[in-house]
Amino acid sequence: MSDCLFCKIIKGEIPSEKIYEDEDVYAFHDINKVAPHHFLVIPKKHISTLNEADDPTLVGKLSLAASKIAKDMGFAENGYRVTMNCNDDGAQTVYHIHLHCLGGRQMTWPPG
Ligand code: 5GP
Ligand code: ZN
Repeated sequence: MSDCLFCKIIKGEIPSEKIYEDEDVYAFHDINKVAPHHFLVIPKKHISTLNEADDPTLVGKLSLAASKIAKDMGFAENGYRVTMNCNDDGAQTVYHIHLHCLGGRQMTWPPG
């Protein structure tokens, strides 16, 4: 989608700090980290919110990419949080679905 920030990141039109890429997903460091480790995993296909997602394999690949990266980065054993925000009440600001993966500190529950 031409005016989507994350589609532009996938195409390389906007720079990002890439961590991982395969044929379906792309992962990169969040520009505004809220934890020592904070990266985003996105599908290469544009899907605006989780409400529009209909491919269970693709949605599952986002989670498996997050766990693979957390293992590779060495914080999977300690633990981490994976979150997908949806629409206004979920505090979604970029309308191309993405998993946040947060690690490197103790998380609290419930989230704000
Ligand atoms: P949301 O609030 O939609 O769940 O999360 C969007 C995330 O994208 C935020 O954590 C924000 O910091 C991140 N973000 C927004 N613009 C950019 C950007 O241009 N580059 C990177 N790397 N992250 C971004
Ligand atoms: Zn997009």
